[in-house]
Amino acid sequence: MTDIKSMNLSELTAYLTANGFEKFRSKQVLSWIKQDVADFDGMKNVPQKLRDFLKQDAYLACADIVRVQRSKLDDTVKYLFRLYDGEYVEGVLMRYHHGRTICISSQVGCKMGCTFCATGKSGFSRSLTASEMIAQIRSAELDCGERISNVVLMGMGEPFDNYENVIRFLKLVSSEDSLCIGMRHITISTCGIVPRMRDFADLRLQCGLSVSLHAPNDEARSRTMPINRRYPIKEVMDASRYYIEKTNRRITFEYALIDGENDSDAAARELAGLLKGLLCHVNLIPVNIVTGAGYRKSSIKRQQAFVNILSEEGINATVRRTLGSDIDASCGQLKRNFMKGDA
Ligand code: SAH
Ligand code: SF4
Repeated sequence: MTDIKSMNLSELTAYLTANGFEKFRSKQVLSWIKQDVADFDGMKNVPQKLRDFLKQDAYLACADIVRVQRSKLDDTVKYLFRLYDGEYVEGVLMRYHHGRTICISSQVGCKMGCTFCATGKSGFSRSLTASEMIAQIRSAELDCGERISNVVLMGMGEPFDNYENVIRFLKLVSSEDSLCIGMRHITISTCGIVPRMRDFADLRLQCGLSVSLHAPNDEARSRTMPINRRYPIKEVMDASRYYIEKTNRRITFEYALIDGENDSDAAARELAGLLKGLLCHVNLIPVNIVTGAGYRKSSIKRQQAFVNILSEEGINATVRRTLGSDIDASCGQLKRNFMKGDA
């Protein structure tokens, strides 16, 4: 089946003309897609013959909202989306002073198995298409009744383990053929798939990049992030330098502070040594509690000591505010829903 919602106008035109339809039909079809048409019969000015062909050969990807959880602590909303094949992903809508930001998923589950992450613990089913990433944004916009201006690919999944679809998503969602959300308003987070970080740098997109570091040396990082055995810290740092050189953009390093695991003064100094001279920012996240992970957040005192050491060493760092903690909507708390009844 052809995923027409992942196509831009020229691809849609090529697809329709190759199947014997007039060139101008693609604009009509795209316009219906932009109006969130639910099925091909809803494409009113499209001839029956084309509708019948599309029904046979194509599908309209979706991310239907099946559960909404609203935080009582802040304006955060967590959505459970159902995809066309009955798989589920989660997404989180946040309100910042500069507007609405959505955190979307790029895969159903994740293969990377980081020990502190609920997604990593819930297994992997499949990668999402570009259209399914866009559909999460659109469904949330329709639910909240406001335009979403910023997108982060920090939900379920490792974006660079779904590289082609993610790049297709970035190009499409930022174009006039789709939601027109500029690349500068989109951020991707990766656990450090080094070859894809380099490919991404070569594209020189204006999109933001976050790298999940979470430890200052290989021994500690391999303990919590299995991917580190494949791409150790030195390679991740070299690829990060390459990205900065190519794009002239700052990288954000994510570092979850875990009590007794990676939050010592020595760890802070080692981290500072690693990042010295790099155009970067460090986002410290007191680790969010995930059932079965057995980790605790670093104390406020430790968090402060850690930031202070980084600052003294000239490294730009902040402790990130936690949103949606009462609805398990914080970083690393999203997971695959196995039970269809759960929805
Ligand atoms: N797979 C990508 C993006 C999704 S995870 C990645 O790992 O970067 C988004 C962010 O949440 C990552 O920085 C991830 O390391 C972090 N994270 C995962 N579990 C967490 C937890 N329990 N507490 C705090 N941050 C967590
Ligand atoms: Fe996957 Fe990212 Fe979770 Fe690691 S932190 S398991 S890479 S989603």
